[in-house]
Amino acid sequence: MSASAVVIGAGVSGLTTAVCLAESGMDVRVDTDRPPGATTSAAAGAMWDPYLAEPRDLVERWSRVTLSVLTELSSVTGSGIRLLDGTQQSRIPCELPTWGPLVGARRCAPGELRDGFVAGWRYRAPLVDMPRYLRYLVDRLTEAGGRVREHHYDSLDDALPEAPVVVNCSGSDARFLAADAEVEAVRGQLVVVENPGIHRFFCDDTPGAEDLTYIYPHPDVVVLGGTSDRDNWELRPDRAEAEEIVRRCAAVEPSLAKARIVEHRVGLRPARSSVRLAEERHADTLLLHNYGHGGAGLTLSWGCAREVAERVRAARVTSP
Ligand SMILES: Cc1cc2nc3c(=O)[nH]c(=O)nc-3n(C[C@H](O)[C@H](O)[C@H](O)COP(=O)(O)OP(=O)(O)OC[C@H]3O[C@@H](n4cnc5c(N)ncnc54)[C@H](O)[C@@H]3O)c2cc1C
Repeated sequence: MSASAVVIGAGVSGLTTAVCLAESGMDVRVDTDRPPGATTSAAAGAMWDPYLAEPRDLVERWSRVTLSVLTELSSVTGSGIRLLDGTQQSRIPCELPTWGPLVGARRCAPGELRDGFVAGWRYRAPLVDMPRYLRYLVDRLTEAGGRVREHHYDSLDDALPEAPVVVNCSGSDARFLAADAEVEAVRGQLVVVENPGIHRFFCDDTPGAEDLTYIYPHPDVVVLGGTSDRDNWELRPDRAEAEEIVRRCAAVEPSLAKARIVEHRVGLRPARSSVRLAEERHADTLLLHNYGHGGAGLTLSWGCAREVAERVRAARVTSP
């Protein structure tokens, strides 16, 4: 089963990269040791939100590109993406985020603020049903001639002979696969409940807050967040944390207190001082890295994937 490009990883970074390469005419195979539905990407909330990622200038560019693609995809049936109105609010005075103008953010009127909040921004941004969106990406990859194979690599050296182009999108496992001690897992847990009739998103964005509190409504369920636990690789949900998430969200939106729980989700954010988007030459193989997106992997996905595809194109044009 030869390929002109192998992408390691079937999370949002790997699948988006694979789609960009396949749609540029390459024969692409995604090798992954977990099916897309069992990745961190499938566990994410998930909203477009350039959350704490570095380097700032590139993050701004990558998130702008992604915003534009996700906005276009929101009109594609089955993509799992909707543009949703809502607010980010803070318990202390705060400034408009730098990306506010991209999503038409305006200051909340006092009547729009929840109890205990003193400032906030109303805007419209893409909200993504991640399990469905990952299925959409796999379908789009297949349509472009690509495929997904379940396979585990013990080391990147084992992947290099597989194709002239190899892209490493292994998320938090890049700590082991790429021997990158800078990568740390930041565990996140979410609770999914039946939707009691909520139509707008809410996110507590108090600077320096210890807890994450957010409410992301999909048509039949609401994703409630969340936690952020550094250097914790545990994938089993914790019952006490789940109760605390529901309690915090219900304090903001009381109709959630009695909503039936349908699922618990856990994912490992691939935290790093900055995203690693880099290339290396190994004999006949071009190896690219695309990992370390922390809590913003969806938000950066199209910007990073297009940059990988552009670097591959440039390398192929200049190689003898
Ligand atoms: C609770 C939570 C909420 C979040 N909310 C948001 C949000 O609202 N917006 C946002 O933008 N981001 C959000 N994130 C962050 C986002 O989920 C991540 O940044 C993103 O999923 C990372 O994607 P990835 O494809 O790089 O990694 P992953 O999804 O972890 O995928 C890694 C892939 O690599 C494969 N792999 C790893 N090692 C190997 C190996 N040795 N051999 C073969 N395959 C391998 C895995 O099987 C997997 O397929 C959230 C994260 C969490 C946990």
